[in-house]
Amino acid sequence: MDVSELEENLFAASDAKLHRDMCKELSAVYCKVLSIFPSLEEARPRSKSGIQALCSLHIALEKAKNILQHCSECSKLYLAITGDAVLLKFEKTKSALIDSLRRVEDIVPSSIGSQILDIVGEIEHTKFLLDPSEKEVGDRIIALLQQGKKFDNGNDSTELEIFHQAATRLSITSSRSALAERRALKKLIDRARVEEDKRKESIVAYLLHLMRKYSKLFRSEMMDENDSPCSTPCSPTGQGSNEDRVNAFGRQLSKFGSINYKPMNSRKSGQMPIPPEELRCPISLQLMCDPVIIASGQTYERVCIEKWFSDGHNSCPKTQQQLPHLSLTPNYCVKGLIASWCEQNGITVPTGPPESLDLNYWRLAMSDSESPNSKSVDSVGSCTPKGFKIVPLEESSTIESERQEKEENNDPDVNDEVDSEINVLEGYQDILAILDKEEDLAKKCKVVENVRLLLKDNEEARILMGANGFVEAFLQFLESAVHENNAAAQETGAMALFNLAVNNNRNKELMLTSGVIPLLEKMISCSQSQGPATALYLNLSCLEEAKPVIGSSQAVPVFVNLLLQETETQCKLDALHALYNLSTYSPNIPTLLSSNIIKSLQVLASTGNHLWIEKSLAVLLNLASSREGKEEMISTQGMISTLATVLDTGDTVEQEQAVSCLVILCTGSESCIQMVLQEGVIPSLVSISVNGSPRGRDKSQKLLMLFREQRQRDQPSPKRDEAPRKTVSAPMAIPAPVSAPESEGLGFRFSTMAILGLIKRVTRISINNSRIRVYPVRYFQSKDFSSTNSFNGEDAAKLPVLIVGAGPVGLVLSILLTKLGVKCAVVDKATSFSKHPQAHFINNRSMEIFRALDGLAEEIERSQPPVDLWRKFIYCTSLSGSTLGTVDHMQPQDFEKIVSPASVAHFSQYKLTNLLLKRLEDLGFHVRSSKESDGLEVDAVVARQILMGHECVAIDGNKDSITATVSFLKGGKNMKRNIQCSLLVGADGAGSAVRKLTEIEMRGEKDLQKLVSVHFMSRELGEYLISSRPGMLFFIFNTNGIGVLVAHDLLQGEFVLQIPYYPPQQSLSDFSPEMCKMLIFNLVGHELSDLDVADIKPWVMHAEVAEKFMGFENRVILAGDAAHRFPPAGGFGMNTGIQDSHNLAWKIAALVQGSAKSSILNTYETERRPIALSNTSLSVQNFRAAMSVPSALGLDPTVANSVHRFINKTVGSILPTGLQKAILDNVFALGRAQLSESILNESNPLGNQRLSRLKSIFEGGKSLQLQFPAEDLGFRYLEGAIVPDNKSEAGDPEVPSGRRRDYVPCAVPGSRLPHMYMKILSDSTRDVIVSTLDLVSTEKVEFLLIISPLQESYELARATFKVAKELMANVKVCVVWPSSDEGLERESNSALAPWENYVDVMEVKRQNGEGTSWWSICKMSERGSILVRPDQHIAWRAESGITLDPTLHMRDVFSTILGKQ
Ligand SMILES: Cc1cc2nc3c(=O)[nH]c(=O)nc-3n(C[C@H](O)[C@H](O)[C@H](O)COP(=O)(O)OP(=O)(O)OC[C@H]3O[C@@H](n4cnc5c(N)ncnc54)[C@H](O)[C@@H]3O)c2cc1C
Repeated sequence: MDVSELEENLFAASDAKLHRDMCKELSAVYCKVLSIFPSLEEARPRSKSGIQALCSLHIALEKAKNILQHCSECSKLYLAITGDAVLLKFEKTKSALIDSLRRVEDIVPSSIGSQILDIVGEIEHTKFLLDPSEKEVGDRIIALLQQGKKFDNGNDSTELEIFHQAATRLSITSSRSALAERRALKKLIDRARVEEDKRKESIVAYLLHLMRKYSKLFRSEMMDENDSPCSTPCSPTGQGSNEDRVNAFGRQLSKFGSINYKPMNSRKSGQMPIPPEELRCPISLQLMCDPVIIASGQTYERVCIEKWFSDGHNSCPKTQQQLPHLSLTPNYCVKGLIASWCEQNGITVPTGPPESLDLNYWRLAMSDSESPNSKSVDSVGSCTPKGFKIVPLEESSTIESERQEKEENNDPDVNDEVDSEINVLEGYQDILAILDKEEDLAKKCKVVENVRLLLKDNEEARILMGANGFVEAFLQFLESAVHENNAAAQETGAMALFNLAVNNNRNKELMLTSGVIPLLEKMISCSQSQGPATALYLNLSCLEEAKPVIGSSQAVPVFVNLLLQETETQCKLDALHALYNLSTYSPNIPTLLSSNIIKSLQVLASTGNHLWIEKSLAVLLNLASSREGKEEMISTQGMISTLATVLDTGDTVEQEQAVSCLVILCTGSESCIQMVLQEGVIPSLVSISVNGSPRGRDKSQKLLMLFREQRQRDQPSPKRDEAPRKTVSAPMAIPAPVSAPESEGLGFRFSTMAILGLIKRVTRISINNSRIRVYPVRYFQSKDFSSTNSFNGEDAAKLPVLIVGAGPVGLVLSILLTKLGVKCAVVDKATSFSKHPQAHFINNRSMEIFRALDGLAEEIERSQPPVDLWRKFIYCTSLSGSTLGTVDHMQPQDFEKIVSPASVAHFSQYKLTNLLLKRLEDLGFHVRSSKESDGLEVDAVVARQILMGHECVAIDGNKDSITATVSFLKGGKNMKRNIQCSLLVGADGAGSAVRKLTEIEMRGEKDLQKLVSVHFMSRELGEYLISSRPGMLFFIFNTNGIGVLVAHDLLQGEFVLQIPYYPPQQSLSDFSPEMCKMLIFNLVGHELSDLDVADIKPWVMHAEVAEKFMGFENRVILAGDAAHRFPPAGGFGMNTGIQDSHNLAWKIAALVQGSAKSSILNTYETERRPIALSNTSLSVQNFRAAMSVPSALGLDPTVANSVHRFINKTVGSILPTGLQKAILDNVFALGRAQLSESILNESNPLGNQRLSRLKSIFEGGKSLQLQFPAEDLGFRYLEGAIVPDNKSEAGDPEVPSGRRRDYVPCAVPGSRLPHMYMKILSDSTRDVIVSTLDLVSTEKVEFLLIISPLQESYELARATFKVAKELMANVKVCVVWPSSDEGLERESNSALAPWENYVDVMEVKRQNGEGTSWWSICKMSERGSILVRPDQHIAWRAESGITLDPTLHMRDVFSTILGKQ
């Protein structure tokens, strides 16, 4: 082959877009090598090295070919910016060629070898240099890139200048060359993506962006002779010679400022058709999901424009026009168009706004379609109107997108067509002249058609032509076409006008004033031309001024008729959209109604075809805004059912429309509400209220509210006893007192009976056995119970105390009473003791009380798990997942026994019950099941019995006693036993029947939270936690579940999981053992092989205290949960109850034994109720602190509760529970999504913020606390069975803060006696060390007087003994000898004689005898004295000696305490 020919054919210099000189050199070399290649092959070196040498030459030639091809195919801009890299490639190719040729030279005959050497020499002399001008262009663009240019569309003069120069120098000046450049760039992007070269992709994306942004520069470069296929690319240096071209380019440039940016399509090449511009938001460039119109008339995606406004703009982003207001009107029509466009193109309708409003490189780089500005138009001559419609850009009108649009990328002829069309347009005046003078309609038609095509996507042309007489000329043409009844010409004329009117209100106005309407009326009356006429009507109807004109024209009934006609879909759609536009102008509504539009729309909406439903509903919504429209809609047969069907079967948008219509129709129309309800819409509404669009959700909730209000109106006003729901839901209903008016009519009785029947069914109360008896409260009110002194007399038939409830409170009370010598018995409705380990935290004060119960405290200490296994609360995402925080609740002083001889403990309630029962058995108690109680006489006194299966169902009383009726099962039958007692203590728990029978109300906050407790065993989990993160409470938060795990005993693997519970939507059956196992596995983070679910129990958290603790003239007393129910936060429930018992026991004993008057019982309420109130408040504060953690994690528990309440309040009475449950599940799942690992991590800004908030909560002690020493030991009675100091220094106790505060010992009356270790001096045989608390007797009601060994104190002690004897009270005197008095005789015998009940003790000081003395702990002088009650609380004190007559004084003191004044 001839070398020059080869060169010519393969690498003509003109092929190189850039780096032409280098390409020329290399291609010459390439061709030379090729020319000797046949000789080389002929020489056929067979050796391995010979083959390798030939291969290397092949490779080098391939390299050369590639680089030459690259320079001929690549984008000019890219070649310019990569000049240095290209140069390097040339150099490398050169070396490769030289190298391989040398290798070949070694293995071929010398004749060929010399040719090779010649070529090598030539190559060696070749110098590759970059063209300085191209290099400069490249450098400038690189500088632009380095400035970090953004993909904005604003006019940037520097950018424009640089781009202009670059484009000019690189000869990208015509639309053709620009097109070639864009194509080359797109190819590069594709390649970069394949290579996953993000950097390259972003650079090329930016170049492409520039090309698109400034595409107007090339657009009118109509005559670009250099762009002809055979033209030679001109060197940038040579461009100045082509003045015309440069000038044309410059002209375009000068106009640039006024050219609006046209956004790019978001189509992926070959995959998705280009959505019409008006269906895309001008800001996000995406198909819109929620299009809204702003005051400028432009339509935007709601979130985008909201963001624009919230960023402080008050102008239209597209038109820059200042807006009079920033309100947004939904553009349903465009929304409908989007839906139908998507449907037609098989694309999913967007369901949400763009993910991000930041238009970054990547988003734009993804868009490799062309801007509409460079979009092709249909071929000249095509006359199909559908194919030529252009969508008005800003208006809420329709237009079909072009079908079978030629893709510029695939159709090389397009540019020729563009050029030829543009040529035609050059002389507007010529065209007008033709239209004016030409007689032949067909010829005119062709011209009009050409112009129509030109107008299709050329805003400037619309403006220019509109301003230059084309409106009038087209109207004239149309008139002739109508006149000649030429349908094709009418279509062409109408569509040309249509294109002229697109996005150009001025042209529309001109058409109106120039008489387009009469022409259109004529056209629309003829079926042949209805299509184009309707399209033009639609376009015009976007103009406000046109709405009344069209609305009162003949077109309206035609549009309405079109809706139901068998006609072209597009025409129907245009009619529907035109009707929508007309219906937005309210004066049009009567005319629309009179055209029977409502029925037509209803029919259209009931077709089930999504193309029509939303649009029909959009028009109906407008019509419903008028009274007449609304009434007609309600009365139109099938309307309500159609709307109801849409609720059921429609998509989100359609549902939103339908529910909006229904809200309007139902508001103020009860009959409509009934009609709608009859359609069974509630389930759909609830589903929409959860899953619908934001507006749909809002509207459906509104509608549900309307239904609810209507329902309430329908229900007769509730009479007393007539609210079945309320009555049924009461856990144990208390019927009205017998004294209630009996004059109610028969109707009342019937309804009452019916309701009682219902109650009985629900509460399973047998009719025969009316177990709830009504007690006339008034009976007691007139009686003086205290004067009867019925406690003192020995009455064999009467039990002194009956305790209802064998919970910890009842059991502790029975032990204390028994030890104090008071006979008592216990009844409990449960047949056996619960194994459910509710309470587990025993506080310091309770443990002190237990110290006195025959070593109970010590046994608990021995039996509980080691403190290191429960001192912490752990917050985590799962038990095997990450830890969010750990809080240690023990402090060193908690173990030092300085302020108390006992420590807090962690011991399950049922285990405590067992230990208490053991103690009771030791005291002679029998636990009897109902079967075992058979031997007892029915009404026998049952002292020292614990009767299980005995439920207290009634309380009766007379002047001397209380009779409790307890019911029990015997041989399957319900039996009753009456137990007569002097006092009845209701320790029957939170749902106390005793409290209800006594008609005592609870006060406070009910139903704070409902929970389910799942008691389970797993040693595997216990062992795992011991080894990984031992703790008492585990708060677990993850996307699948939330729960609090109480590790009751890690060693035994005993746990309780607390899960929030939302009845009635959830029922206990939802928490089957299997479900609970799943949940546990979820929270643990893996399965457990030995998981055994023992029990599942619901419970309700309240924060309530009984209004009073005593009833029936103080013969019925409430204790424990019966009197107060708190959140378990801080573990105050059982502890407060135990302390109630402690307070009550000695008072009852003192009364029964005659040392106190019955009024002493009043002091129980006076003292304990304030403590209960204070502990309630503390528990609530602590509960709230517990909630701070989920709140910080983005899970607001109050929201969950509010949603629950909301559902109960709104749809609860009308919806199936299943649906309500679905709603809740959805809401909760949404909430838990906050806990996903993708959010909850330090690299996520939100997650990081939440985690650091958590940290500060934990570190600041603001999470749930376990220990409250100030309240635990420091609680103090302000009044009651005490003699307060005259002027107490202590003041009022501090209000609980919810934070841990230290206990400060205090001897103010009402306080618990401070603890100090003392050595008993009277026992010389051994060292007996006791706490001051131990000096108080638990075996009898005995006061303790603490004095110093001082004369005056002894005198006081003797007086005290004397007075106590008088009052039948017991007193022991404790003489505290200072530790410093060691060696002296320390014996009070002679000083106190003849009294003997005393004990000499000596202070045991800490730290080798140093430290605070007893009296300084009490902040008193040693001349003081303290009188301690049998419950270890201080009854009275003398801070520094008694100056008055001590006997008189002490008589006063005792009388006050014992109520004997
Ligand atoms: C999950 C959870 C954790 C808790 N943790 C702690 C904690 O750590 N520390 C703490 O101090 N508190 C805690 N509590 C609270 C504690 O469990 C209660 O305060 C405690 O059980 C109250 O004891 P009670 O004896 O007053 O009542 P209950 O224990 O409820 O006992 C009442 C008894 O009365 C019986 N009864 C009811 N009605 C009748 C009737 N009509 N006739 C006869 N008998 C009847 C019942 O069968 C029952 O046996 C917790 C509570 C819960 C739910």
